[in-house]
Amino acid sequence: MTNGTPLLELKHIHQIYTSGTRKFTAVEDVNLTVQEGEYVALLGPSGCGKSTLLRILTGLQKPSEGMVLYRGQPLEGVNPHATIVFQTFALFPWLTVLENVELALKARGIPPSIRTPRALDLIDRVGLDGFENAYPRELSGGMRQKVGFARAMAVEPELLCLDEPFSALDVLSAESLRGELLELWTSGSIPTKAILMVSHNIEEAVFMADRIVIMDKEPGRILAELEIPLAHPRQRQSDEFRALIDDVYALLAGQTQPESVELGAAPGEIGRVRSLPDVHIGDLTGLLEHLAEKPGDRDDIYRLTEELTLDSDHVLRLTETAELLGFVTVAKGDIELTPLGETFAEASILARKEIFASRIRRLPLVRWLIGMLQRAEKHSLKSEVVKVALELEFPPEEAGKQLETLIQWGRYAEILAYDDSDEEIYLESTPEKVAV
Ligand code: ADP
Ligand code: MG
Repeated sequence: MTNGTPLLELKHIHQIYTSGTRKFTAVEDVNLTVQEGEYVALLGPSGCGKSTLLRILTGLQKPSEGMVLYRGQPLEGVNPHATIVFQTFALFPWLTVLENVELALKARGIPPSIRTPRALDLIDRVGLDGFENAYPRELSGGMRQKVGFARAMAVEPELLCLDEPFSALDVLSAESLRGELLELWTSGSIPTKAILMVSHNIEEAVFMADRIVIMDKEPGRILAELEIPLAHPRQRQSDEFRALIDDVYALLAGQTQPESVELGAAPGEIGRVRSLPDVHIGDLTGLLEHLAEKPGDRDDIYRLTEELTLDSDHVLRLTETAELLGFVTVAKGDIELTPLGETFAEASILARKEIFASRIRRLPLVRWLIGMLQRAEKHSLKSEVVKVALELEFPPEEAGKQLETLIQWGRYAEILAYDDSDEEIYLESTPEKVAV
C-alpha cells in the first residue's frame, strides 16, 4: 500500500495569522504524509494549530505558504473527497435524524431511492437504530454526535477528518462511539481510505491510531511521529499499550537523557537512589496551571516566589518535581511547560491522574514500592515495614518523609490505597503491571 502515491501530502505548510497589528506564526513548516489505509492522530496542546491544519488539508483554508497534494495532485479549493466531523456537530433541529443524514446526500443530487436506504443503513451502523424519526432535541450529546458521524460517512469520504470528535462527550458516550468508529473502520465496511483525527487525549490517540503525530505550539509544529503497531481491539491494561503511552509521554516531555541517568536507581540497585521531593500534588498542579496562563507558558523562577507567595525553597522543590515528571524544562532561570505539562494543565481530573500515574510509575522508588506490594501477600504491607526498608537508604527522618510522599503521590495516581486506621498500604485493585 505504501508504494503507491500517498493519499495526502502536506509540504512545508506555514500559516501566519494577523490579529490586530500583530502577526504570528500559527503553523510552521509542517510536512505530513498520509497513506491509504492509515489512521493518523494529530496530538498536541490547544493552540498548536491542529484545527488550522485540518482546514488547510481539506481545502477550507489556503495556507500562507506550502502545498497540499491529494493523490499526487495539488489541491484546488475544497477537497470533495474529504469530510470533517467537528467536536460538536451542528444538526438541523427541525429535521429528524434520518432527514439530517439524508441532507448531505441530497446536496450531492443523490435520488431518494438510493439515499434513504443508505442513510438508514448508516444510522443503524452507528448504533441509532430506532431513532430515525427522532428530533435532535430528543437525543443525548453522544447520540447527536453519532448522527454527525453518520452524516459524515453517508457521503462516503475517502479521507475522514475528525476534529476532537469525542472531547465534548461524557466518558461513556465517548467510549462507545470510539468503539463503533473502530468497528466500522477495521471491518472495512465503510469506503473511507484514511482517517485523520485531531486529539489532545493521549490515551485516545494510542487506542485508535496507527501513527501519532506529536505537535507543540508557539509556533505550531511537528515534534515527532510514533508508530502504534498494535492490532485492534487494543487492551488498555496490556504492557505493550502502557509502554507506548509512556513513549508518547516521553516525546511530549522532551526527554533527552536515558531514564537510568535521569531518574537514579531503586533501593537495592546499583547507583544513587534519588529521593522524591517533598511536594504536595495541589501545589504542583497550581504551578502548572499558573504557567499555562503565562505568555509562552513560561516564567522566571525567581518571579514565581512572589506570584505564588511561596518561599524560594518550596518553589525550587516544585520546579524539581515538575522537571522530574517531564512537565517543565528549566534553563537559565526560566521555567517553561513542556507539551506534556501543557496537556496536564488542560486535562480533566481523571486524565491528570492518568498522566501523573504513568509518569510516577517510572520513578525507581515508586517502581520499587509497587514491586514489593506485588510480591506481598494480599498486595499490601504495613507502612512500618516499608519505612524500615527505606531506612536502609535514607536517614530515619528522611525515610519517613519519603514514605509520606510515596503514599500521597501513589494515592493521587490511584496506584496505592492507604488505610490510616491500620497503617496498611495496598496496591489499587487494577492489576497494572510495571514495565521494568
Ligand atoms: P488547535 O486546534 O490546535 O487548538 P488552532 O488551529 O485552532 O489550534 O489555532 C492555532 C493558533 O492560531 C491559536 O493561537 C489560535 O488562537 C490561532 N488562530 C486560529 N484561527 C485563527 C484565525 N482565523 N485568525 C487568527 N488566529 C487564529
Ligand atoms: Mg482545535
